[in-house]
Amino acid sequence: MSKRDYYDILGVAKNSSPEEIKKAYRKLAIKYHPDKNPDDHTAEDKFKEAAEAYEILSNPEKKQRYDHYGHAGVGGASGGGGGYGGGGMNMEDIFSQFGDIFGGGGGGGSPFESFFGGQQRGGASGRRVAKGSNLRIKVKLTLEEIAHGAEKKIKVNKQVVCKTCDGSGAKDKSSISTCKTCGGNGSVRRVTNTILGQMQTTSTCPTCNGSGSQITSKCTSCHGEGTVRGEETISINIPAGVSDGMQLSMSGKGNAAPNGGIPGDLIILIEEIPHETLKREGNNIVYDLHLSIVDAALGYSAEVPTIDGRAKIKIEPGTQSGKLLRLKAKGIPEVNSYHRGDQIIHVNIWTPKALSSEERSMLEKLRDSPNFKPQPGKNDKSFFEKMKEYFE
Ligand SMILES: [Zn+2]
Ligand SMILES: [Zn+2]
Repeated sequence: MSKRDYYDILGVAKNSSPEEIKKAYRKLAIKYHPDKNPDDHTAEDKFKEAAEAYEILSNPEKKQRYDHYGHAGVGGASGGGGGYGGGGMNMEDIFSQFGDIFGGGGGGGSPFESFFGGQQRGGASGRRVAKGSNLRIKVKLTLEEIAHGAEKKIKVNKQVVCKTCDGSGAKDKSSISTCKTCGGNGSVRRVTNTILGQMQTTSTCPTCNGSGSQITSKCTSCHGEGTVRGEETISINIPAGVSDGMQLSMSGKGNAAPNGGIPGDLIILIEEIPHETLKREGNNIVYDLHLSIVDAALGYSAEVPTIDGRAKIKIEPGTQSGKLLRLKAKGIPEVNSYHRGDQIIHVNIWTPKALSSEERSMLEKLRDSPNFKPQPGKNDKSFFEKMKEYFE
Protein backbone atom coordinates (compact mmCIF):
# COMPACT_ATOMS: atom_id res chain seq x y z
CA MET A 1 0.00 0.00 0.00
CA SER A 2 1.56 3.25 -1.05
CA LYS A 3 1.39 6.25 1.22
CA ARG A 4 -1.07 9.03 0.61
CA ASP A 5 0.00 12.59 0.11
CA TYR A 6 0.10 14.46 3.42
CA TYR A 7 -1.66 17.49 1.99
CA ASP A 8 -4.46 15.26 0.66
CA ILE A 9 -4.80 13.55 4.03
CA LEU A 10 -5.38 16.83 5.84
CA GLY A 11 -7.28 18.34 2.91
CA VAL A 12 -5.11 21.44 2.77
CA ALA A 13 -3.25 23.21 -0.02
CA LYS A 14 0.53 23.28 -0.27
CA ASN A 15 0.61 26.98 0.57
CA SER A 16 -1.72 26.72 3.56
CA SER A 17 -0.70 28.62 6.66
CA PRO A 18 0.42 26.75 9.82
CA GLU A 19 -2.84 27.85 11.42
CA GLU A 20 -4.91 26.31 8.59
CA ILE A 21 -2.93 23.07 8.81
CA LYS A 22 -3.47 22.94 12.56
CA LYS A 23 -7.19 23.55 12.16
CA ALA A 24 -7.56 20.83 9.55
CA TYR A 25 -5.74 18.34 11.75
CA ARG A 26 -7.74 19.24 14.83
CA LYS A 27 -10.95 18.50 12.94
CA LEU A 28 -9.76 15.07 11.80
CA ALA A 29 -8.32 14.20 15.20
CA ILE A 30 -11.68 14.80 16.84
CA LYS A 31 -13.58 12.95 14.14
CA TYR A 32 -11.43 9.81 14.16
CA HIS A 33 -10.36 9.71 17.79
CA PRO A 34 -10.27 6.08 19.02
CA ASP A 35 -12.40 6.86 22.04
CA LYS A 36 -15.14 8.10 19.77
CA ASN A 37 -14.79 5.11 17.46
CA PRO A 38 -14.08 2.10 19.67
CA ASP A 39 -12.85 -0.97 17.78
CA ASP A 40 -13.18 0.78 14.44
CA HIS A 41 -9.89 0.03 12.72
CA THR A 42 -10.58 2.23 9.73
CA ALA A 43 -11.06 5.23 11.99
CA GLU A 44 -7.97 4.29 13.92
CA ASP A 45 -5.88 4.17 10.76
CA LYS A 46 -7.25 7.52 9.63
CA PHE A 47 -6.47 8.97 13.04
CA LYS A 48 -2.87 7.80 12.79
CA GLU A 49 -2.53 8.89 9.19
CA ALA A 50 -3.70 12.41 10.05
CA ALA A 51 -1.32 12.59 13.01
CA GLU A 52 1.61 11.58 10.87
CA ALA A 53 0.70 14.12 8.19
CA TYR A 54 0.41 16.82 10.84
CA GLU A 55 3.70 15.87 12.42
CA ILE A 56 5.46 16.50 9.11
CA LEU A 57 3.52 19.52 7.86
CA SER A 58 3.62 21.36 11.19
CA ASN A 59 7.41 21.20 11.30
CA PRO A 60 8.92 23.73 8.87
CA GLU A 61 12.08 21.72 8.32
CA LYS A 62 10.28 18.41 7.73
CA LYS A 63 7.66 20.13 5.59
CA GLN A 64 10.38 21.55 3.36
CA ARG A 65 12.01 18.15 2.99
CA TYR A 66 8.65 16.57 2.21
CA ASP A 67 7.92 19.25 -0.39
CA HIS A 68 11.26 18.50 -2.04
CA TYR A 69 11.58 14.75 -1.80
CA GLY A 70 8.15 13.41 -0.87
CA HIS A 71 7.83 10.60 1.64
CA ALA A 72 11.41 9.52 1.08
CA GLY A 73 12.62 12.86 2.40
CA VAL A 74 11.00 12.49 5.80
CA GLY A 75 11.97 8.87 6.44
CA GLY A 76 8.40 7.65 6.64
CA ALA A 77 8.35 3.98 7.50
CA SER A 78 7.52 2.10 4.36
CA GLY A 79 5.26 -0.88 4.04
CA GLY A 80 1.76 -0.91 5.34
CA GLY A 81 -0.06 -3.50 7.29
CA GLY A 82 -3.05 -2.72 9.36
CA GLY A 83 -3.40 -1.82 12.96
CA TYR A 84 -0.60 0.07 14.57
CA GLY A 85 2.09 -1.11 12.16
CA GLY A 86 1.24 1.39 9.47
CA GLY A 87 2.63 4.82 10.08
CA GLY A 88 5.76 6.13 11.64
CA MET A 89 4.14 7.20 14.90
CA ASN A 90 2.61 5.45 17.85
CA MET A 91 -0.30 6.58 19.94
CA GLU A 92 1.89 8.20 22.56
CA ASP A 93 3.53 10.37 19.95
CA ILE A 94 0.13 11.37 18.69
CA PHE A 95 -1.24 12.27 22.08
CA SER A 96 1.85 14.26 22.86
CA GLN A 97 0.89 16.52 19.93
CA PHE A 98 -2.36 17.36 21.59
CA GLY A 99 -0.87 19.74 24.08
CA ASP A 100 -0.39 22.36 21.44
CA ILE A 101 -3.19 21.38 19.09
CA PHE A 102 -5.97 21.70 21.63
CA GLY A 103 -4.67 24.84 23.21
CA GLY A 104 -2.13 23.34 25.52
CA GLY A 105 -0.99 24.21 28.98
CA GLY A 106 -2.74 22.96 32.03
CA GLY A 107 -5.92 21.49 30.70
CA GLY A 108 -8.30 23.73 28.85
CA GLY A 109 -11.66 22.84 27.44
CA SER A 110 -10.39 19.96 25.36
CA PRO A 111 -12.29 16.73 25.82
CA PHE A 112 -9.07 14.78 25.49
CA GLU A 113 -7.07 16.73 27.97
CA SER A 114 -8.59 14.99 30.96
CA PHE A 115 -7.97 11.57 29.48
CA PHE A 116 -4.48 11.98 28.27
CA GLY A 117 -3.13 15.05 29.95
CA GLY A 118 -1.12 13.92 32.94
CA GLN A 119 -0.56 10.38 31.93
CA GLN A 120 1.10 11.02 28.61
CA ARG A 121 3.50 13.61 29.86
CA GLY A 122 4.78 11.21 32.46
CA GLY A 123 5.99 9.06 29.60
CA ALA A 124 4.68 5.55 30.06
CA SER A 125 7.47 3.82 28.18
CA GLY A 126 10.40 4.35 25.83
CA ARG A 127 10.78 5.21 22.21
CA ARG A 128 9.44 3.27 19.35
CA VAL A 129 11.83 4.19 16.57
CA ALA A 130 15.48 4.45 17.50
CA LYS A 131 17.36 7.57 16.42
CA GLY A 132 21.04 7.59 15.56
CA SER A 133 23.24 10.16 17.24
CA ASN A 134 24.41 13.35 15.55
CA LEU A 135 27.92 13.51 14.20
CA ARG A 136 30.12 16.62 14.22
CA ILE A 137 32.91 17.29 11.76
CA LYS A 138 35.12 20.27 10.98
CA VAL A 139 35.57 21.50 7.43
CA LYS A 140 38.47 23.83 6.64
CA LEU A 141 37.91 26.27 3.80
CA THR A 142 40.11 28.76 2.02
CA LEU A 143 38.88 32.29 1.51
CA GLU A 144 38.46 31.53 -2.20
CA GLU A 145 36.24 28.52 -1.38
CA ILE A 146 34.21 30.66 0.97
CA ALA A 147 33.79 33.35 -1.68
CA HIS A 148 32.65 30.98 -4.39
CA GLY A 149 31.01 28.15 -2.48
CA ALA A 150 32.49 24.66 -2.51
CA GLU A 151 31.61 21.03 -2.85
CA LYS A 152 33.63 18.97 -0.40
CA LYS A 153 33.83 15.20 -0.47
CA ILE A 154 34.67 14.08 3.02
CA LYS A 155 35.33 10.61 4.41
CA VAL A 156 33.45 10.26 7.66
CA ASN A 157 33.92 7.52 10.25
CA LYS A 158 30.58 6.66 11.73
CA GLN A 159 28.05 4.00 12.66
CA VAL A 160 26.65 2.49 9.47
CA VAL A 161 23.92 -0.08 8.93
CA CYS A 162 25.29 -3.62 9.37
CA LYS A 163 25.42 -5.28 5.96
CA THR A 164 25.33 -8.81 7.36
CA CYS A 165 21.89 -8.45 8.91
CA ASP A 166 20.71 -5.40 6.97
CA GLY A 167 20.29 -3.54 10.24
CA SER A 168 17.93 -6.01 11.86
CA GLY A 169 20.49 -7.23 14.42
CA ALA A 170 19.32 -10.82 13.89
CA LYS A 171 21.49 -13.77 12.81
CA ASP A 172 19.05 -14.75 10.06
CA LYS A 173 15.41 -14.48 9.15
CA SER A 174 14.41 -17.43 11.30
CA SER A 175 15.85 -15.80 14.41
CA ILE A 176 13.31 -13.00 14.29
CA SER A 177 10.05 -13.94 15.93
CA THR A 178 6.87 -12.15 16.74
CA CYS A 179 6.92 -10.43 20.12
CA LYS A 180 5.00 -12.54 22.65
CA THR A 181 3.99 -9.63 24.85
CA CYS A 182 2.14 -7.67 22.20
CA GLY A 183 1.57 -10.32 19.55
CA GLY A 184 3.40 -8.20 16.99
CA ASN A 185 1.27 -5.08 17.41
CA GLY A 186 4.10 -3.11 18.96
CA SER A 187 1.66 -1.73 21.46
CA VAL A 188 -0.28 -2.94 24.46
CA ARG A 189 -3.76 -1.85 25.49
CA ARG A 190 -4.66 -1.09 29.02
CA VAL A 191 -8.03 -0.51 30.59
CA THR A 192 -8.08 2.17 33.25
CA ASN A 193 -10.83 3.59 35.39
CA THR A 194 -11.37 7.33 35.17
CA ILE A 195 -14.08 9.64 36.44
CA LEU A 196 -15.66 9.33 33.01
CA GLY A 197 -15.80 5.56 33.14
CA GLN A 198 -13.51 2.88 31.76
CA MET A 199 -10.98 4.13 29.24
CA GLN A 200 -8.80 2.15 26.89
CA THR A 201 -5.31 3.49 26.51
CA THR A 202 -2.54 2.23 24.29
CA SER A 203 1.15 2.36 24.98
CA THR A 204 4.33 1.09 23.38
CA CYS A 205 5.11 -2.54 24.12
CA PRO A 206 7.88 -2.59 26.75
CA THR A 207 9.29 -5.92 25.55
CA CYS A 208 10.02 -5.02 21.94
CA ASN A 209 10.00 -1.20 22.23
CA GLY A 210 7.25 -1.11 19.66
CA SER A 211 8.98 -2.99 16.89
CA GLY A 212 6.61 -5.94 17.21
CA SER A 213 9.37 -8.51 16.94
CA GLN A 214 11.98 -10.17 19.10
CA ILE A 215 15.42 -11.49 18.20
CA THR A 216 16.25 -14.99 19.41
CA SER A 217 19.74 -15.21 17.90
CA LYS A 218 21.90 -12.12 17.38
CA CYS A 219 23.90 -11.20 14.26
CA THR A 220 27.56 -12.00 14.91
CA SER A 221 28.93 -9.03 12.92
CA CYS A 222 27.17 -6.35 14.94
CA HIS A 223 26.29 -8.33 18.09
CA GLY A 224 22.63 -7.50 17.61
CA GLU A 225 23.13 -3.74 17.39
CA GLY A 226 22.17 -3.49 13.72
CA THR A 227 24.97 -1.00 13.14
CA VAL A 228 28.75 -1.27 12.85
CA ARG A 229 31.66 1.15 12.66
CA GLY A 230 32.23 2.15 9.05
CA GLU A 231 33.17 4.85 6.64
CA GLU A 232 31.12 6.94 4.25
CA THR A 233 32.22 9.53 1.74
CA ILE A 234 29.78 12.39 2.01
CA SER A 235 29.52 15.14 -0.51
CA ILE A 236 28.85 18.46 1.21
CA ASN A 237 27.68 21.51 -0.66
CA ILE A 238 28.89 24.61 1.11
CA PRO A 239 27.12 27.81 0.08
CA ALA A 240 29.18 30.90 -0.70
CA GLY A 241 29.58 33.40 2.14
CA VAL A 242 29.87 31.13 5.18
CA SER A 243 32.10 32.27 8.00
CA ASP A 244 34.36 30.82 10.66
CA GLY A 245 32.37 29.14 13.43
CA MET A 246 29.20 28.75 11.39
CA GLN A 247 27.44 25.39 11.57
CA LEU A 248 25.63 23.62 8.77
CA SER A 249 23.50 20.56 9.28
CA MET A 250 22.71 17.68 6.94
CA SER A 251 19.82 15.66 8.23
CA GLY A 252 20.10 11.90 8.11
CA LYS A 253 23.86 11.90 7.45
CA GLY A 254 24.91 11.24 11.03
CA ASN A 255 25.23 7.86 12.78
CA ALA A 256 22.90 5.09 11.63
CA ALA A 257 20.30 3.89 14.10
CA PRO A 258 19.75 0.27 15.08
CA ASN A 259 16.79 -1.70 13.73
CA GLY A 260 16.13 0.49 10.74
CA GLY A 261 15.62 3.61 12.85
CA ILE A 262 16.20 7.19 11.80
CA PRO A 263 19.85 8.16 11.30
CA GLY A 264 21.18 11.21 13.16
CA ASP A 265 22.31 14.45 11.55
CA LEU A 266 25.73 15.52 10.37
CA ILE A 267 26.76 18.85 11.88
CA ILE A 268 29.45 20.64 9.89
CA LEU A 269 31.54 23.25 11.66
CA ILE A 270 33.12 25.77 9.28
CA GLU A 271 36.73 26.74 9.85
CA GLU A 272 38.30 29.50 7.76
CA ILE A 273 41.94 29.12 6.77
CA PRO A 274 43.53 32.59 7.03
CA HIS A 275 44.59 33.96 3.64
CA GLU A 276 48.22 34.95 3.12
CA THR A 277 47.57 38.47 1.87
CA LEU A 278 43.82 39.16 2.01
CA LYS A 279 42.12 39.92 5.29
CA ARG A 280 38.40 39.38 5.78
CA GLU A 281 36.36 42.05 7.55
CA GLY A 282 32.77 40.82 7.53
CA ASN A 283 31.90 40.58 3.86
CA ASN A 284 34.63 43.01 2.81
CA ILE A 285 38.21 42.09 2.08
CA VAL A 286 41.09 44.37 3.04
CA TYR A 287 44.41 44.32 1.19
CA ASP A 288 47.52 46.25 2.18
CA LEU A 289 49.30 47.62 -0.91
CA HIS A 290 52.88 48.84 -0.47
CA LEU A 291 54.11 51.46 -2.97
CA SER A 292 57.49 53.06 -3.40
CA ILE A 293 57.74 56.84 -2.95
CA VAL A 294 58.54 57.08 -6.67
CA ASP A 295 55.46 55.09 -7.80
CA ALA A 296 53.23 57.09 -5.45
CA ALA A 297 54.61 60.39 -6.76
CA LEU A 298 54.66 59.52 -10.49
CA GLY A 299 51.57 57.32 -10.66
CA TYR A 300 51.57 53.59 -11.29
CA SER A 301 49.59 50.67 -12.61
CA ALA A 302 49.55 48.18 -9.75
CA GLU A 303 48.45 44.55 -9.80
CA VAL A 304 46.70 43.32 -6.67
CA PRO A 305 45.44 39.88 -5.63
CA THR A 306 41.68 39.39 -5.25
CA ILE A 307 39.65 36.27 -4.48
CA ASP A 308 38.83 36.13 -8.20
CA GLY A 309 42.48 36.31 -9.31
CA ARG A 310 44.68 39.32 -9.98
CA ALA A 311 43.28 42.75 -10.80
CA LYS A 312 44.92 45.91 -12.19
CA ILE A 313 44.37 49.18 -10.41
CA LYS A 314 45.49 52.69 -11.35
CA ILE A 315 47.48 54.68 -8.81
CA GLU A 316 47.11 58.41 -9.50
CA PRO A 317 50.27 60.60 -9.38
CA GLY A 318 50.56 62.16 -5.91
CA THR A 319 48.78 59.36 -4.06
CA GLN A 320 49.17 59.70 -0.29
CA SER A 321 49.94 56.91 2.15
CA GLY A 322 46.79 55.66 3.85
CA LYS A 323 44.53 56.20 0.85
CA LEU A 324 41.72 53.65 0.55
CA LEU A 325 40.70 52.37 -2.87
CA ARG A 326 37.65 50.27 -3.47
CA LEU A 327 37.06 47.35 -5.83
CA LYS A 328 33.31 47.09 -5.89
CA ALA A 329 31.70 43.66 -5.36
CA LYS A 330 35.06 41.91 -5.13
CA GLY A 331 34.44 40.80 -1.57
CA ILE A 332 32.53 37.89 -0.03
CA PRO A 333 28.90 37.26 -0.97
CA GLU A 334 26.27 37.23 1.73
CA VAL A 335 24.85 33.74 2.30
CA ASN A 336 21.72 33.26 0.19
CA SER A 337 21.87 36.73 -1.26
CA TYR A 338 23.06 38.48 -4.38
CA HIS A 339 24.80 41.14 -2.35
CA ARG A 340 28.57 40.98 -2.30
CA GLY A 341 31.05 42.92 -0.22
CA ASP A 342 33.92 45.01 -1.64
CA GLN A 343 37.66 44.71 -1.65
CA ILE A 344 39.31 47.67 0.02
CA ILE A 345 42.90 48.50 -0.88
CA HIS A 346 44.89 50.29 1.77
CA VAL A 347 47.83 52.20 0.25
CA ASN A 348 51.09 52.25 2.23
CA ILE A 349 54.07 54.29 0.96
CA TRP A 350 57.29 52.44 1.48
CA THR A 351 60.20 54.46 2.81
CA PRO A 352 63.58 52.92 1.88
CA LYS A 353 65.38 51.51 4.93
CA ALA A 354 68.86 51.40 3.43
CA LEU A 355 70.43 53.65 0.78
CA SER A 356 73.49 53.42 -1.45
CA SER A 357 75.70 56.51 -1.61
CA GLU A 358 74.34 57.30 -5.06
CA GLU A 359 70.70 57.07 -3.87
CA ARG A 360 71.59 59.17 -0.85
CA SER A 361 73.05 62.00 -2.93
CA MET A 362 69.99 61.99 -5.24
CA LEU A 363 67.66 62.32 -2.28
CA GLU A 364 69.86 64.96 -0.65
CA LYS A 365 69.30 67.11 -3.73
CA LEU A 366 65.53 66.80 -3.25
CA ARG A 367 65.57 67.63 0.46
CA ASP A 368 65.05 71.35 0.04
CA SER A 369 62.90 71.08 -3.07
CA PRO A 370 59.60 72.87 -2.21
CA ASN A 371 57.36 70.04 -3.56
CA PHE A 372 58.95 67.59 -1.12
CA LYS A 373 57.91 69.62 1.92
CA PRO A 374 54.79 68.09 3.52
CA GLN A 375 51.75 70.30 2.93
CA PRO A 376 48.70 68.43 4.26
CA GLY A 377 45.50 70.11 3.14
CA LYS A 378 41.92 69.96 4.33
CA ASN A 379 41.17 67.02 2.03
CA ASP A 380 43.93 64.82 3.40
CA LYS A 381 41.95 63.04 6.10
CA SER A 382 43.60 60.82 8.64
CA PHE A 383 43.47 57.07 8.19
CA PHE A 384 40.97 56.70 11.02
CA GLU A 385 38.65 59.28 9.53
CA LYS A 386 38.75 57.44 6.23
CA MET A 387 38.13 54.02 7.77
CA LYS A 388 35.25 55.44 9.75
CA GLU A 389 33.77 56.98 6.65
CA TYR A 390 34.16 53.73 4.82
CA PHE A 391 32.56 51.36 7.27
CA GLU A 392 29.70 53.55 8.40
ZN1 LIG B 1 24.37 -7.28 12.01
ZN1 LIG C 1 6.07 -6.30 21.77
